Amino acid sequence: MKNEIITLKTLAKRYARANRIPQYEALNAIATALNFTHWTGLASKAKQGWMPSDEQMAQAEAFVLQSHPGADEKESFIDRSFARPVDEPVREGKIGDHAYRVFESFGDLRMEGDGWRILVGEAQFSQPVVEIEKPHADKSPVRKGAFLDAALVIADKEAAKVRAGISSDWPRRSTKPDAEGVVVHPLFGGKSSEWYCLHCDGKITGAQLAENLWHCPGCGASPINISSEPAWLDGSDVEPKPVKSPSIQQRPEPEVNVVDSRPTLTLGEDNISLFLRTALLEDAVTPAERIGAQLAEIYVDEDGDACIVLDEDLWPESKDPEAAIAVAEVLGVELELNATCMTFPFAWPSLGHAITSTRDYVQMLLDAHQEHGVIHRESD
Ligand SMILES: [Zn+2]
Repeated sequence: MKNEIITLKTLAKRYARANRIPQYEALNAIATALNFTHWTGLASKAKQGWMPSDEQMAQAEAFVLQSHPGADEKESFIDRSFARPVDEPVREGKIGDHAYRVFESFGDLRMEGDGWRILVGEAQFSQPVVEIEKPHADKSPVRKGAFLDAALVIADKEAAKVRAGISSDWPRRSTKPDAEGVVVHPLFGGKSSEWYCLHCDGKITGAQLAENLWHCPGCGASPINISSEPAWLDGSDVEPKPVKSPSIQQRPEPEVNVVDSRPTLTLGEDNISLFLRTALLEDAVTPAERIGAQLAEIYVDEDGDACIVLDEDLWPESKDPEAAIAVAEVLGVELELNATCMTFPFAWPSLGHAITSTRDYVQMLLDAHQEHGVIHRESD
C-alpha cells in the first residue's frame, strides 16, 4: 500500500477515535473531504495508481484536526498523539548504519527504515508484524536476527510507553478492578464485572480487560468493541463463551511478511482482452464496426496468446484491426484473427456501414422501421 493511503487511514483512525464513530464512517468522511462519494471509490482509484496530491493530504489533515474537540482540556496522551503531525516521528536513530524512525498513532506503533517496517498494536502482548518490501526481500537488515532483535527492543520500549500513556488517560477503575472484579469502560463509561466482545461474542471478565488494556484477550478486538450488554445477540441462539487469556503472558515472536506496495499491472486474460477490445474500438470507424468490436469474441490462452473472432457482417474482412495488432505487439501477445458469421443485431446490415455517425445510424434505423417494420419499446 502506498504511504499516502496509509496516512489517510491513520487520519481516519484519529477521526474515528475523536468522534467515537466506527472506522468505516471515518474513512468515508475522509473520502468525502477529498471529493469522493465514499472510501471504496477512493480505494479503487488508488489501486489503479492514483495518489492524493500534497495539497489533498494537507486538506485531509486539516479536516481531521478541525473536528477534534476538547482542545482546552488537560493535555492527555491521546491529545498529544492527536496533535502530532502524522509524519513526525516519536523517536529516530540508527541501528548500525541503518536509520529508523518510530511513529505513534493513537496507540499503534510503526517503526520503519529503508524498505521495512515493524507494526505493533496497542494491545498488551500483541504480535509485532514485520513487513519487508519485495525489492528489499533478500538484503533487508531485518532479515538478520541481531538487527531484528535490536529493533524489537526499541519497538517494545516505545509500546510500553504508549500503553502507560493510554492507561494514564483512563479512569483508574478501568485498569484496576475493585474487590468484586468490577471495571469501568475507559471510553464509554459503565461498570460491570462481565463484558462481551462484539467481534468474537466472547465473555470476558473485568480483570482480563484491565490486564489487556481493554482489548479482547481472545481475538484482539479494540476497546470500542467491548460492551457490558451483548445486545447484538438478542434473538439469536449464540451463547457467549468465556474467553481464555493466553497462558504465557509475553509478547509473541513477530510475524514476518514480504509485501509489495508498488503499483502492479497484471497481464492476465481479463486485462489483455480489455486492451484488445479497446484497440478494436479505436480501429472501428462505422457504427457496424463499433458494434463488431463490442461483440467480438476475444480468447486469451494460458500462454497469454490471443485470438479475436470478428463477425463478417459487422467487420469487413478486408479491414485489418491495426490498433489491436499494435497493442498485441506491445504486449508481446501472439494474435490470431478469425471471422465468423453471427447474427447482425439489427435489420438492414448495410446501413451500419453506410455512415460514421452513430446518431445518424440510429435515426436511419428508426425511420426504416417506422416505414417498413415495427418499433417495440419495452416501456410501452
Ligand atoms: Zn473477541
